[in-house]
Amino acid sequence: MLEGLMQDDHPLTLGHVLERMRGMNGDGEVVTLTDDGLRRARYAEVAERVDRLCAGLRELGIEEGDRVATFSWNTQDHLEAYFAAPCMGAVLHTLNIRLFPEQLEYIVNHAEDKVILVDSSLVSAIEELAPRFETVRNFVVMGDGDAGSLPNVVRYEELLERQSPGFAHPRLDERTAAALCYTSGTTGNPKGVLYSHRSSVLHALTTCTADALGVSREDRVLPVVPMFHANAWGLAHAAPLAGADMVMPSRFLQPEPLARLIAEERVTLAGAVPTIWLDLLRHVDEHDTDLSSLRMVVCGGAAVPRSLMEAFEDRHAIRIVQAWGMTETSPLGSVAHAPAETEGEEHWDYRSTAGRLMPLVEARIVSDEGEEMPWDGESTGELEVRGPWIARTYYEDSTADDKFHDGWLRTGDVAALDAKGYIRITDRAKDVIKSGGEWISSVDLEGELMAHEAVSEAAVIARPDERWSERPLACVVLAEGGSASVDDLREHLGERVAKWWIPSEFAFIDEVPKTSVGKFDKKVLRQRLEDGELELAGEGAVVS
Ligand code: ADP
Repeated sequence: MLEGLMQDDHPLTLGHVLERMRGMNGDGEVVTLTDDGLRRARYAEVAERVDRLCAGLRELGIEEGDRVATFSWNTQDHLEAYFAAPCMGAVLHTLNIRLFPEQLEYIVNHAEDKVILVDSSLVSAIEELAPRFETVRNFVVMGDGDAGSLPNVVRYEELLERQSPGFAHPRLDERTAAALCYTSGTTGNPKGVLYSHRSSVLHALTTCTADALGVSREDRVLPVVPMFHANAWGLAHAAPLAGADMVMPSRFLQPEPLARLIAEERVTLAGAVPTIWLDLLRHVDEHDTDLSSLRMVVCGGAAVPRSLMEAFEDRHAIRIVQAWGMTETSPLGSVAHAPAETEGEEHWDYRSTAGRLMPLVEARIVSDEGEEMPWDGESTGELEVRGPWIARTYYEDSTADDKFHDGWLRTGDVAALDAKGYIRITDRAKDVIKSGGEWISSVDLEGELMAHEAVSEAAVIARPDERWSERPLACVVLAEGGSASVDDLREHLGERVAKWWIPSEFAFIDEVPKTSVGKFDKKVLRQRLEDGELELAGEGAVVS
């Protein structure tokens, strides 16, 4: 017999991670910043509370396969939900607290969430929507704050308290769904990515390898990246798996509390989008803070400016490492460590790439003509990836099936690959704007702008921005005889989209350039912007 002699059917499930938290990693610590100082718990205690939450969710009628949503910052309670829902066979659905109400309503109803665990500091952001959630039976409020007008409220601590210790966890198949995360990085409605136990464990395990983030028992990990955004880049699985401590910032994401948290809690590994590190750089430049405990900072979600990496390294001896990924890729796909033998410009060239492909992630570059391009570091095309933690399709939504073909995910990023497997992103094929690590749909903004009576055409493009990576710039063509000020347009949008989506700058143009098939040709607009040919109108400007 030449096969079947290994325990290949041993399931890769998050239950294994939970048992390590309970037992051999039980001394690991979870620290959460709260209004009243720091809350501390050992992993063993967290695991015990996970059991109680499983029992509590069962009490609320949650069955295997049901969706359990969270609406929360990065906290110990959120971590408990991260393990309770999947380990009882349900699916953890992390809701992005920054979404516009209509998107949230769509997502909760599409996922058919049964229960939502809400951080009490976020009640006001969700209570008005509650009546529109069609399948939600209970709101479980975490923290001491008021539950507002939420219906069918259960207090988290009371729910846990009335359960007996221990929970008979089901033995799950590794392909069972574990978590669900929606991305609005495509056109149309947000799309759900349904992670399995297997994909989550393999992703966490590979995250712990040295050429990725090298998470180990020695680490104290600070996920600034939200747990509702692509699983906090997998850190909330990798740290408990390795036995690394976790330091949770909750809603205190400003530079001052973050710097203090890093210094006082001796954080060794932190992850956040470039906007956070830019703010932190300004802060630590001005305030003497001891960040020497940091061995590495992982940064991604948008291109990381080389100047930011160099400034941290030169002035504060902190190494920022760029990573690339998507919600659809769990999210880590590549990490930019330079080869050890490189130095100077060559070293920085590697560090400025989107990174080197992680083990088990395969990639190819495909030209517009559908041809596979060589890994020569120069030929560009759409980056396509496949691997054991990459989505095969979206959850219950076939409207974007063209993003997946013959087993590959089309990333919408235009890139070149070099022979060593480093990805250099040169452009983006998808029509979106990434501001502070979150998506803004240019298509939605255009639709809303064109709904204004004075506007005949609107094309929204990304404008590079030092603080936010990108901000939307609206290029507007006014209708004959129409008149509108920038303030009018901003007010109009204010009623229709999230506040942070509203463009700060507008350009009034005579016509939107079109491609041969009549589509808006944003390449031309981007070029005009780069060449300084677009006249930008700020607030107060009136054009007719
Ligand atoms: P996340 O922000 O968690 O990585 P999203 O799914 O929201 O995941 O966004 C993924 C997209 O963000 C990528 O397809 C790419 O366009 C952009 N992105 C992510 N990381 C980088 C990077 N290091 N450089 C450039 N763009 C990036």
